[in-house]
Amino acid sequence: MNAKHDDLHLDPLASTHEVFNQAPPLENYDAFTGDTALKEAVVREGGDWGLGDLSRYGYETTRPEVIEWGYQANASKPEFEPHDRYGHRVDQVNYHPAYHSLMNMALREGLHSSPWTDPGPGAHVVRAAKYYMHAQVEGGHGCPITMTFAAVPSLKLTPSIAERWLAKVTARDYDPRNVSHQDKQALTIGMGMTEKQGGSDVRANTTRAYPVGAEGPGELYELVGHKWFMSAPMCDAFLMLAQAPGGLSCFLVPRWREDGGKNPLQVQRLKNKVGNVSNASSEVELRGAHGWMVGEEGRGVPAIIEMVAMTRFDCMIGSSSGQRQVMAQAVHHVAHRAAFGETLLDQPLMRNVIADLQLEVEGSVAMTWRMARALDHQEDEHEKLFARLGAAVGKYWICKRTPHHAYESMECLGGNGVTENFILARLYRDAPINAIWEGSGNVQALDLLRAMGKSPKVLDAWFAELAGAQGRNPVLDKAVNALRKELGDSEALPYRARDLVDRMALTMQAAQLVKAGNEAVSDAFITARLDSGHTRNYGSLPRGVDVDTLVARANPWNA
Ligand SMILES: Cc1cc2nc3c(=O)[nH]c(=O)nc-3n(C[C@H](O)[C@H](O)[C@H](O)COP(=O)(O)OP(=O)(O)OC[C@H]3O[C@@H](n4cnc5c(N)ncnc54)[C@H](O)[C@@H]3O)c2cc1C
Repeated sequence: MNAKHDDLHLDPLASTHEVFNQAPPLENYDAFTGDTALKEAVVREGGDWGLGDLSRYGYETTRPEVIEWGYQANASKPEFEPHDRYGHRVDQVNYHPAYHSLMNMALREGLHSSPWTDPGPGAHVVRAAKYYMHAQVEGGHGCPITMTFAAVPSLKLTPSIAERWLAKVTARDYDPRNVSHQDKQALTIGMGMTEKQGGSDVRANTTRAYPVGAEGPGELYELVGHKWFMSAPMCDAFLMLAQAPGGLSCFLVPRWREDGGKNPLQVQRLKNKVGNVSNASSEVELRGAHGWMVGEEGRGVPAIIEMVAMTRFDCMIGSSSGQRQVMAQAVHHVAHRAAFGETLLDQPLMRNVIADLQLEVEGSVAMTWRMARALDHQEDEHEKLFARLGAAVGKYWICKRTPHHAYESMECLGGNGVTENFILARLYRDAPINAIWEGSGNVQALDLLRAMGKSPKVLDAWFAELAGAQGRNPVLDKAVNALRKELGDSEALPYRARDLVDRMALTMQAAQLVKAGNEAVSDAFITARLDSGHTRNYGSLPRGVDVDTLVARANPWNA
């Protein structure tokens, strides 16, 4: 052996190379204070009293341990066990412990209940900001959090049910045990509307409900049928639609019967989904499952729509949150990565991409938090009318823009972005979910037409809102006038519905940004989205845009 070879053997761990030009982990930062668009929106829409608490939670959500829970909860799919070891039916779904840690964190923070337990100006605004930061860690467990939150207005429709359930549903605690709701102090709620033959068209539901004794609101029924998509099947009860003698009605169906037996709401299998992995979604059969009627007989859709309206709002928060997290990851990476001798963030074309991606976040945040304020002031007629269209337009647009935004942000990380070691891959797989569930794209667009057809007042309120930004930017004024003309043309409305929602979303986002008062942001948005057309790829901002301001606002370290 020559000396050279010996040297190598003497040091078998000789380093092959030095690791450099990789970003450090993005953690231990204030996700609230470092998010200028969010912070400004919270103040603007009435949540300034919550700033201190939001900053605390901003740090909480970026703790390395919490970030790790997000990875762990998605590393293994939830597993279904129909029976216990002795053969008793239990319909148990087992999750990774990290999923439970995330659930515990969310519920203890009141993300499922704070606007109901502590209502008032800014209640939805502050809760939305917390949820937005929380969901950046992991989106899947948000499903039962959102459903529990959203079920409250529906549960309130029937006093006998509200009395027995609301305190436990809004409690800030988590009890994942597979035992009766009677033996728990904190409960979660899911929903079952979608059946094999139809999800959007719930009138086609074939599940039947038979009265056990007396009929009507709050009374007990037996349900026979199935549900094709029932997420978070370990929830303690589910709001479901079924055909009662008097028509399609809403029921609260618990996991366990009040006599202590297992309610025959039986999970058949879990869905094998492309994303949303930590969240179990199940197919179930109801074999005479007990459920109490919620709302009036034959008025099941209006009863459950109270819940759906809230879940749609949460989809706006969730998708905005996904956009913010991929943005933060992208800008963090390019700030630490050099190529061709220069940091990527300093290179003009990358700055164009980052600035354009940030514009998407700016529009989503402005629209979502304007909606949050509307929800905080439902006693005000204008806010109520604004929220009616705002939910459909916002859910449609923000959720639909998210997958491509995630993909472009992923590309900023190059090959790293595609590997499961980085959160971008998960966020990309999760990105389409919100657009599909709770009213897919076309259904949202058609819902808009339905609302406008029912009362012209909703459109008056929409244009009154847009008028607040009138005269500040000629391109926006022109787009609003064109929108008015388009909406005035009643021909082929269903065929044109997506185009109308697109225009409504973009002009409303622009108007909110104008009203927010940062001209660098609003001018850039209007130039890029209303003047240049929005069909181009990200990164094609024209000359003259204040890219520096947008890049600084994207940077999570910009506290
Ligand atoms: C991750 C995930 C979780 C879910 N969790 C739940 C849950 O917990 N509970 C639950 O009840 N459901 C749940 N769903 C189901 C979801 O709500 C439905 O899949 C959705 O509402 C669409 O229904 P569908 O699948 O039957 O599609 P369809 O209703 O058949 O729609 C198919 C397509 O046709 C379009 N379409 C429908 N009507 C029209 C029309 N009139 N004109 C033009 N286009 C139209 C839709 O927009 C859609 O693109 C979940 C779905 C996902 C992806």
